[in-house]
Parts: sequence; C-alpha cells; structure tokens
Amino acid sequence: MALIIKQFLIGSDNLGVLLHNPETGMTASIDAGDAGAIEAALTESNWKLTHILITHHHDDHVAGIERLKERYHAYVYASALDEHRIPFVDEFVFEGDEVWFGDILFDVIETPGHTNGHIAYYCQQENLVFTGDTLFSLGCGRLFEGTAAEMWASLGKLGFLPDETQVYCGHEYTLANARFAVGVDPENAALVARIAEVETLRAQGTFTLPTTIGAEKATNPFMRAAQPKIAAAMGLAGASPVDVLAALREAKNKA
Ligand code: ZN
Ligand code: FE
Repeated sequence: MALIIKQFLIGSDNLGVLLHNPETGMTASIDAGDAGAIEAALTESNWKLTHILITHHHDDHVAGIERLKERYHAYVYASALDEHRIPFVDEFVFEGDEVWFGDILFDVIETPGHTNGHIAYYCQQENLVFTGDTLFSLGCGRLFEGTAAEMWASLGKLGFLPDETQVYCGHEYTLANARFAVGVDPENAALVARIAEVETLRAQGTFTLPTTIGAEKATNPFMRAAQPKIAAAMGLAGASPVDVLAALREAKNKA
C-alpha cells in the first residue's frame, strides 16, 4: 500500500504532516496547529481532510482544530487524559486503543513527559510512528508537565518499535539538537555522520524528518542516556539513565 506523506513548515519550526491514502481518498493531519497552513497544503495537493490525530494539547498543535472541523468535518482523535483541555474532539483514546484512518490502523502509545496526556500514533502496517513533541530527531521534548523518569519510559516504549519504523515529529529542531548531541557524544561515528547529513539537508532547504527508531537509538543522546559514555560526559558516571536524562534536558534547556 502506498500512503503519500507530505511535510510542510508551520511558522518557524512546527512540522505539519499530512497523510493521504490514494485508494480511499482519505487524508489525515497529524496535529492541527495552524488551520490556514494546513488548508493551503491540502489545497495544493487537492486533498480533502477527513481525520485529525492530535498528539498533545499545546496551542501549536491544536489551535486549528475548530476551523478545520468546520470546513472539512474531519474526525478528531486525542488523548483521553486531555479530555478537559482539548475541545472539538470526536474520540478520546487511551494506550492500546485503536485509531482507524479508513482501513489503516494506528495504535495509541501514551508517551508522557512533555505533557501528561501526550500520545504517539503507531502504524505497524505502514511502518510509521508520529511522535509529536516526545521524540525529535537527536532530541526530546521539554519536561513541561512530566518527569525525567516518565520521559525515559516514553522514549523506551518508542525504542521497542522496530528499528526501521519511520519517525515523524512535531518540530524541525534537528540542527540545534545535533549541536548539543555532539557535545555530549563526540566519539559517536553514527552521530557525526548524521550531523553531516542534517547540515546538507538543511542547506538544501529539505526537512531532516523522517528519521527511524534505529537511527535515533544510535544517535539521540536522550535515547542513549543508559550509555556509560553519555553519563560520563555529564559528570554522572554510574548514575541511573533517568538522572542522566534529567541532566541532559537541563543542559539542553540552557544551551
Ligand atoms: Zn508541545
Ligand atoms: Fe510543539
């Protein structure tokens, strides 16, 4: 089956993602931060929005839901933990619930840390995961509501997906993440190679996403917080991965 995936920039660094199934004519938007930008992307491809899959409640991911629903009558999914704070949702879902995009199935994975109600959407048949602001390429989301332990567990869940799973996320932050990552993991050859690739892609005006679960496990310091070299680089030799992740997140916030 061939889904068409279209990424586009919203504002300075939000990544819009549209998923189109030519067989059914259905189109899903992952998050809905800006209705105008999403409408423009839909119009450009002559697609009609049928579904919206919300990852978390932040404004840059939900502000466009009302207008898009009004125009397209799209069916909206969001986390049941956010029922009190995300309006215009048709179906609230928990971990393990099924999200159907026509005949294509997504599994809901709860990934708290950035926010309490953050969820990712995993599609085994298409080998895809949408990780919102939990997992970025070479980084992870800030801990606005959750703890470092929750983020470590969430990244661990995503890390259990097959290595070849294609990862799409909520922001094009890769270049800034790369600069931080190489400072804490300078001898990682896979990371050094990825940074060269990221610099080339950005210089060409191309997105650095999708990445893969396997590539992130090899290069992303937040997924590699259990590696002794990363703990040592943070001055935390022998510390738990949760403490190392907390220190990485603190240091990145100040970078
Ligand atoms: Zn966010
Ligand atoms: Fe965001």
